[in-house]
Amino acid sequence: AGRRAAPGAASTAAAAPAAAAFTVHDAAPAASASAASSWRAFPARQQPDWPDVAALGAVTRGLAAAPPLVAAAECDLLRRRMAAVARGEAILLQGGDCAETFAGTGTESLRGTLRTLLQMAVVLTHATALPVVKVGRMAGQYAKPRSSPVEERDGVTLPSYRGDAVNGLEFTAGARRPDAGRLRAMYDASARSLNLVRALTTGGFADLRQVHAWNQGFVAASGAGERYEQLADEIGRSLAFMRACGVDTREVATAEFFVGHEGLLLDYEAALTRVEPGTGRAYATSGHLLWIGERTRELDGAHVEYFSRIANPIAVKLGPTTTPDTVLALVDRLDPDREPGRLTFVVRAGADRVRDVLPTLVEKVNAEGAQVCWVSDPMHGNTTTAPSGHKTRRFDTVLDEVRGFVEVHRELGTHPGGIHVELTGDDVTECVGGGNAVLEEDLPDRYETACDPRLNHAQSLDLAFLLAEQYRS
Ligand code: PEP
Ligand code: MN
Repeated sequence: AGRRAAPGAASTAAAAPAAAAFTVHDAAPAASASAASSWRAFPARQQPDWPDVAALGAVTRGLAAAPPLVAAAECDLLRRRMAAVARGEAILLQGGDCAETFAGTGTESLRGTLRTLLQMAVVLTHATALPVVKVGRMAGQYAKPRSSPVEERDGVTLPSYRGDAVNGLEFTAGARRPDAGRLRAMYDASARSLNLVRALTTGGFADLRQVHAWNQGFVAASGAGERYEQLADEIGRSLAFMRACGVDTREVATAEFFVGHEGLLLDYEAALTRVEPGTGRAYATSGHLLWIGERTRELDGAHVEYFSRIANPIAVKLGPTTTPDTVLALVDRLDPDREPGRLTFVVRAGADRVRDVLPTLVEKVNAEGAQVCWVSDPMHGNTTTAPSGHKTRRFDTVLDEVRGFVEVHRELGTHPGGIHVELTGDDVTECVGGGNAVLEEDLPDRYETACDPRLNHAQSLDLAFLLAEQYRS
């Protein structure tokens, strides 16, 4: 049997990952105390090959002593919000970059993404009369799983880019070498972004009475912008009406906003895991909502083990080959208490598969009595390569997957819980199509993503309006 870890000892173990093997599944309350370490007994996929293990130990020890980025009570609040999604009483809107970069931290781009999400939320709330739970794919989305560990260009082979948390995007041996110091930089960048997110969402920027201002400079530029402007007029009149009736509209001055990212790098997540003194429950404090990616969700893997020990609301991506047995086993491992709001399944089956794959999964989970949230990620099952070599996605295909997802739930009488999308508020040209059609030949114009192609501002609003129609019909 391996060494037994005391709370906070994760960093010591991190210095020698191979030597640390825990074979015991501790019973509560030790279960939560071991959240930071129990995963080390399981194989962890997609972890960087850190060349300097001593440096990794020093960094994770530093992180273990650093303040949490989010509070446990905030994670509990999001779990309650997600419970409303599971019950069909709310909708989840989650979006942001595929891969955040350190260079992009705290810039105008973050403000643009936030503004786009707020606009989409207004469109969805207006159409459904349901609250929209807003989660940014931000302030922590710095690590990427890759389908190949190496990348080849013109006969040169280097390690793949794994996100700014691990190495640099530049195609040089130096940049591509994993550097544990980047985990600290990830924490610092996340803290800066989160500070800006909190400032903007509570400091007036997200005030619903600013519903017009979010659209500034955008109206004339696109059909979606014009359509939004009409909606904003309507909302403005409704607010004026309520004020005239004596309702205090200051209630809408702030927006509740959460952040989340793929919980990929377990050394990082473990170092930021904190046990609440009152309840003994362990929380990942790097973000409110963490998810397990399609490539790391194997049942006997380290990610599922780590996620089973934290009390945050969590999500798991489900690709087209997911079997009902896998989903039921995930429910058992990750939501043994059948707690509404605890577990979200993010389906990314592809537009051509979602109608075949999803019904059985939903039916089996329902028969099991679990109240999970079902969310559509219409991006990751629909990636193609344009003739120019750019990785892209067609807006129509993205929309078709969302449609298929909603159709399946309508037929089963279950709730299409929302969407998880890669988007930006910038006018990039990464996805093809949309009302302001981006053409294949436009792709090189503003192709700025560090990883997967994102919907631009107009395409994101288009998607919100078209999804709103789905919810209404
Ligand atoms: C992602 O969300 O960027 C991602 C890698 O997704 P998936 O795990 O679904 O492939
Ligand atoms: Mn992606």
